Amino acid sequence: MTQTTNTSEWNPTSWKSKSITQDVEYSDNDALNKNLTKLSSLPPLVHHLEIDKLKNQLAEVAENKRFLLQGGDCAELFEYCSQTPLENKIKVLLQMSLILVWGGRTSVVRIARMAGQYAKPRSKPTEVINGVEYNAFRGDNVNGLPLSERKPDPHKLVEAYFHSAATVNYVRSILANGFADLHHPDNWTLDSFSLQHVKSPQIRSEYQSIVDRLLDSMDFMRTIGADSPEDTTSNNPLNTVDMFMSHEGLLLDYETSLTKKVSVKVNGQTEERFYNLGAHFIWIGDRTRQLDGAHIEYFRGVQNPIGVKVGPSMEPEELIRLLDILDPNFETGKVTLITRYGATKISNYLPSHIKAVQQTRHKVVWCSDPMHGNTELAQGGYKTRRFENIAAELGKAFRIHKDCNSQLGGVHFELTGEKVTECTGGSMEMTEAELPENYQTYCDPRLNYEQSLDIAFLIAKYYET
Ligand code: PEP
Ligand code: MN
Repeated sequence: MTQTTNTSEWNPTSWKSKSITQDVEYSDNDALNKNLTKLSSLPPLVHHLEIDKLKNQLAEVAENKRFLLQGGDCAELFEYCSQTPLENKIKVLLQMSLILVWGGRTSVVRIARMAGQYAKPRSKPTEVINGVEYNAFRGDNVNGLPLSERKPDPHKLVEAYFHSAATVNYVRSILANGFADLHHPDNWTLDSFSLQHVKSPQIRSEYQSIVDRLLDSMDFMRTIGADSPEDTTSNNPLNTVDMFMSHEGLLLDYETSLTKKVSVKVNGQTEERFYNLGAHFIWIGDRTRQLDGAHIEYFRGVQNPIGVKVGPSMEPEELIRLLDILDPNFETGKVTLITRYGATKISNYLPSHIKAVQQTRHKVVWCSDPMHGNTELAQGGYKTRRFENIAAELGKAFRIHKDCNSQLGGVHFELTGEKVTECTGGSMEMTEAELPENYQTYCDPRLNYEQSLDIAFLIAKYYET
């Protein structure tokens, strides 16, 4: 077995001596440093014990005792940090997880792509519009979408922190006060499972039967007293849920500023550990996972559970070396491999990736992202994804894991609680011609509210079969 554990000294800025991809160049270094100093002085957005809790839950996912649901926008915008969009996103994630809990008979770990999912890697650093070259839009924490705002502005890093803080604050407060309470269907639960959007009679009756059985189970629990609606404390699991926050750890200056030394007890001894306290979970994108690059160097030193996007360009041998660097202590569930190949390619790559990891002592969470390998251009230049391809990659992921004596532990989606028209298909049978009706994303196309529920029902079905 090759063991390439990087034993050189790590510190929160040791990544600076490595080559970095997708870097942002600021023209004013003093302004950058001033904003980074400000960021470092601000309080953590999350507590390290919450991170430990998520890590434990992900260890249970790796041991097939739980299922992971991760989802949210491709890129958050500062303007999404507003009451209704936040509630809608939490609502769709809660509804999906309820369907999964019910369908899979397993508890679900919920991670939102939220409260910091601002920065985006781009295929090209610039774009030409009407013959003029502009910086590409890199996300709300770097520059602005309007062409006049394309110069990177370091103050946006501090603005990103405050938008993340407002998001975390509001999500915490609604969850602590009954938003996820199954006894209040007016908030988000069963009454909202309106099947008006389902066009096909066959799918409609399949969905209806799942919803009916779900309602029945709830009724049964109430009848036998397993559920007591008057118990409004968080001791009643029907009243509230955990919702963890995540983003792609792309801007290493930002991540470093929120990385803190924490004293923790390990086997009765106090030890100092570094946590990224700007999110519970961060992941490395498919474009920034070079073995000797800055991102891998930063990620190998933090205690947080981390994700790595894995696409067709990953060699099995490279995957093993990556895990040796990122998970030198063989912690169960420390690394989530988020695979994204595309419906037609998954069979060529996933089996060899699974087999490579099975030959090591690394116990990873296998998560399928059936979005990023299935992007295509529709008429009129709309970037879209077909529901049938998303469903196909997901179905194949379940099957391939089974065939390889492995287990798909979770799913990762780009979705929104809004009624956008960005992906085609689903039970609403959205056509390409309908895409312009409410196409909002400036980045990747997301499943809308109904299509997100469709996916959850589909996963429930995969579990049944
Ligand atoms: C993303 O998750 O939005 C993304 C850019 O994914 P990937 O790194 O897999 O391309
Ligand atoms: Mn994306």
